[in-house]
Amino acid sequence: MARVYNFSAGPSMLPESVLKKAAAEMLDYEGTGQSVMEMSHRSKAFDKIIKDAEALLREIYNIPDNYKVLFLQGGGSTQFAMVALNLMNKNKKADYIITGQWAKKAYQEAQKFGDAKAVASSADKTFTYIPKTDKSMFREDADYVYICMNNTIYGTVYHELPDTGDIPLVADISSCICSEPLDISKFGLLFAGAQKNMAGAGLTIAIVREDLLGNAMDITPTMLDYKIHADADSLYNTPPCYSIYVAKLVLEWIKNEVGGLEKMKELNEKKAKILYDFLDSSELFKGTVVAEDRSLMNVPFVTGDADLDAKFVKESTEAGFVNLKGHRTVGGMRASIYNAMPIEGVEKLVEFMKKFEAENK
Ligand SMILES: *Cc1c(COP(=O)(O)O)cnc(C)c1O
Repeated sequence: MARVYNFSAGPSMLPESVLKKAAAEMLDYEGTGQSVMEMSHRSKAFDKIIKDAEALLREIYNIPDNYKVLFLQGGGSTQFAMVALNLMNKNKKADYIITGQWAKKAYQEAQKFGDAKAVASSADKTFTYIPKTDKSMFREDADYVYICMNNTIYGTVYHELPDTGDIPLVADISSCICSEPLDISKFGLLFAGAQKNMAGAGLTIAIVREDLLGNAMDITPTMLDYKIHADADSLYNTPPCYSIYVAKLVLEWIKNEVGGLEKMKELNEKKAKILYDFLDSSELFKGTVVAEDRSLMNVPFVTGDADLDAKFVKESTEAGFVNLKGHRTVGGMRASIYNAMPIEGVEKLVEFMKKFEAENK
């Protein structure tokens, strides 16, 4: 069996040991004689899975007790409406920082429900940097300030959070969840679609400060009300059981095999450095993002020649490095090197890039 190095932005690689464990337990989960896929979400066995997944996430991220952890469906994109419906509820105002397509989509969705304002943007330079903000740029009566923490398409990340004072900070962490430690107490709400760094598609994780719950707009559909899910311990209806199970295995992997989020961060920094150092020294390839805002997870790069980019994508695919084509809206290449990408995957990619550079001078 030959496995490729998969640089997809999402759905993306999972740790091999997680896939093997899931495969071994496929027909008979811990003596139940069933697959987790076939199991009632009200069963004792599944109850333990979802509780363990939550406990592990709380432990790994050190989540304070006054935050709820929710296992939802609908992906990151459903959160764009859900955040606004639930949190834009006092003054019906929210401030958005536009750092790419995902932030823009969230902002456009929020405009349907209230006074959403774009307070800063990096659109002027194709989102290749994180705009600087200070407290005075946010409206004092904004219900929240919204950021997309790691910009999957453009490869930028917030290394330092904006200072929003007392205004709750909401962050989309879809493409950086569990990639490094985070001080959860700095946020009002965080959410992530699981398919980038946590599990297969279908699961969305939200971490919400309790005082922000219970004040959703009257028009909020039941399924989009965080409080409904919080009160039912994420079992108001059938949750994405199998993805929750895979997320639990991934969290066990982070805790037991990697050694926690500090270690995860070290590994991710090491991997990213190999690629960025090469891009900085290469005469053919170059990174597209300003150095201080570079993402550890998504690394876009170009040759400057669209035909050569296409040739690189074709030849790298044939060599077993798949999904390196950049997002359809930006072109070039992008290597997504999430938690599960082993260090040798990045080393071998750089070797391949060096060879390509020598052959295409
Ligand atoms: C992928 C992604 C989304 C969209 O996620 P879906 O689950 O496909 O809706 C939103 N935000 C970020 C940062 C992403 O990377």
